Amino acid sequence: MKDSDQITAGLNEEQKEAVTAPRQNILVLAGAGTGKTRVLVSRIAYLVERCGVDANRILAVTFTNKAAREMRDRLALILGEHSSRRLWAYTFHTASSHILRNFAAEAGLTRNFTIIDTADQLSVVKKVMEELKLPAEVWVNNVKYNARNYLQKIMDEKARGNRPGMEGESILPSFYDVYAQYQNRCDKSDQADFEELILRTCELIENQPRVRQYIRMKFQEILVDEFQDTNSLQYRWLKLISGAENLDPEKKPANVLIVGDDDQSIYGWRGAAAENMFYFQKEFAPVKMIKLVQNYRSTKAILSNANSLIKNNTRHLAEKNLITHNPDATMVKLLESYDNNDEAEEIAKTIRKLVDNLGRDPSDIAVLYRTNAQSRLIEKELVAYGIEYNIYGGARFYDREEVKNALAYLRLIINPEDNISFSRIVNVPSRKIGKVTLSKIEALHHEFGVSMFRAAEMYVTKNKSRPLKDFIALIKGFAARLEEIPGKSEDIAAFLKSVITDSGLRDYYQEKTAKEEADRSIDRTGNLDELISDIANRDYLEVEDQGIEAQGMAEPESDEEDDADNSDNKYSLRDFIQIYLASAALMPSSELLKSEENHAVNLMTIHCSKGLEFGAVIIAGFEQGLLPLERYSSFEKEDERLEEERRLAYVAITRAKELLFLSYAQTRMSYYGTYNTGASSFVEELDHNCLDTDLDFLDA
Ligand code: ATP
Ligand code: MG
Repeated sequence: MKDSDQITAGLNEEQKEAVTAPRQNILVLAGAGTGKTRVLVSRIAYLVERCGVDANRILAVTFTNKAAREMRDRLALILGEHSSRRLWAYTFHTASSHILRNFAAEAGLTRNFTIIDTADQLSVVKKVMEELKLPAEVWVNNVKYNARNYLQKIMDEKARGNRPGMEGESILPSFYDVYAQYQNRCDKSDQADFEELILRTCELIENQPRVRQYIRMKFQEILVDEFQDTNSLQYRWLKLISGAENLDPEKKPANVLIVGDDDQSIYGWRGAAAENMFYFQKEFAPVKMIKLVQNYRSTKAILSNANSLIKNNTRHLAEKNLITHNPDATMVKLLESYDNNDEAEEIAKTIRKLVDNLGRDPSDIAVLYRTNAQSRLIEKELVAYGIEYNIYGGARFYDREEVKNALAYLRLIINPEDNISFSRIVNVPSRKIGKVTLSKIEALHHEFGVSMFRAAEMYVTKNKSRPLKDFIALIKGFAARLEEIPGKSEDIAAFLKSVITDSGLRDYYQEKTAKEEADRSIDRTGNLDELISDIANRDYLEVEDQGIEAQGMAEPESDEEDDADNSDNKYSLRDFIQIYLASAALMPSSELLKSEENHAVNLMTIHCSKGLEFGAVIIAGFEQGLLPLERYSSFEKEDERLEEERRLAYVAITRAKELLFLSYAQTRMSYYGTYNTGASSFVEELDHNCLDTDLDFLDA
């Protein structure tokens, strides 16, 4: 047991005020590194310890799953495992996915619904466009649009809360028909895309009084980190979940604490609006407003450069001039190189010196860049200099072909309605099921309105097809095992292992890998093994939350403790697999698998670096054309775009605790040619008293 003194120990006055405020709506608007996330975590501890709120009634919304995990870990240190496991710490998407699963029937889904990924979404859109006799490339006003543009527009519409048939216009021919057909197919396959999770949760709460009532009693306290990057749909979600929408005036809404920094809003291009903080003040009134001004993360030199840069933005919700009592220490360093090859080498050399001469731990060093493409050269040089690195935001592990196919088997096994997975794997590995057979199955599927799998079963009752029969038997055989109660997570791993072996996937990829020998970087069976260990190592604590919720509409009032130690026994293989599939689908590319964490330098885009901190940071490509990035943008006004680029630079700079390097090249060679670039115009806006090019300290 910790009393509040221990919870608030070391916090400054304003932080304490936020942490120990009476239960009410609170807005913490504060700059980078001022302890917003720390306040949020301490507040949860305070609510549990001091106010007697059950951790299970607290919803903490984070921007990434990694942040949610960290939050649980930090809370475990303060409150112990038991409370931290009961906390609902999730992203908007993961929280929505749990809610939808618990109220599947009301939401028009089944408990087994799966989450569709971008590649599968794209193939659905392509198919729909074909059916509607639209060409693969549509020209409008001399601009070419393809399936990707249609998909993007569908997701934009959803993010605005628009269903097909609701208001709106599109220059894309037959857009709303494509949207309607796309949705129809997803619904039939019992699948939901990312935006759908949030939109459908909103509609569920709006339309189902019983669900609303449940949610209202369930969540007493809601806390949201990185609020500046929420879009209008997420804001609607928050109003509904918290009860601030006031659909049931007699019910008391939850208390909501949001923390954010409008100067770090970097998802404007995706519809996020820092203005939501402004609306929050009005629509959740009364709101206690707290500002934090002391930065605990960075040295004076780093901070004064950050302050000096962001002053140039004209749009702020509040002026912030951050101060720090941290030591002066080393100046911010400019690294100039001749071209991008030299830049990559310069970066590798600098890291070598940081590690060898200054004794820095590689995992406390980050290289940040504006665009993914910049990583290739840097990676090459890191390898040449023998520096290990982790890259965040590359191709997702779960998107690799062999991994996707193995997961598609699991999906079809738990959800025979999943037509997309059926089509994906019915002939992988090749079973020599012919095109004619498949088109007949598809015809049955349309004619009788049944799933593809069911249509295949119908097909084999009348026609001979040994391979198809075997395939059906294989899937059904596995499905029959789903209600088994596994003792430990190894059983799930064993299950997946036999799926991979018995389906023939392992042999198939073994052969394929052998053929690809020339390209040593691909180890497909290795990836399948990695998947098996991933499923075995996975932390299944989410099962507990699901279990608590699985009591369905039971009044959440009764605070009976469930015995965490025995909880394993209550869940079937199906439950575990479902949770695994959902969490794999919701793991964005910015996150690593647990097993990939090690003592290595971190490489990531600036967007991925939000909320993180490192002892030493190197920003690559701090140059004209890259930061600010020159490209077609969704912003109407040029200065709005420039301000978002400046906020990106600000986020990047404020990730650094002690050492910061801004690297740029004079020329940049690419596939398209060689350009003169040079230092970013943002360099002019930095604090030149705290900036130099002297690198002698690295040779100490
Ligand atoms: P960002 O805007 O980047 O998300 P933030 O405002 O969430 O930053 P935190 O990550 O919570 O800031 O804190 C920044 C660093 O300062 C962390 O290392 C944190 O532990 C430390 N810190 C915060 N408050 C204090 C304090 N009162 N005393 C000492 N260290 C603190
Ligand atoms: Mg933070």
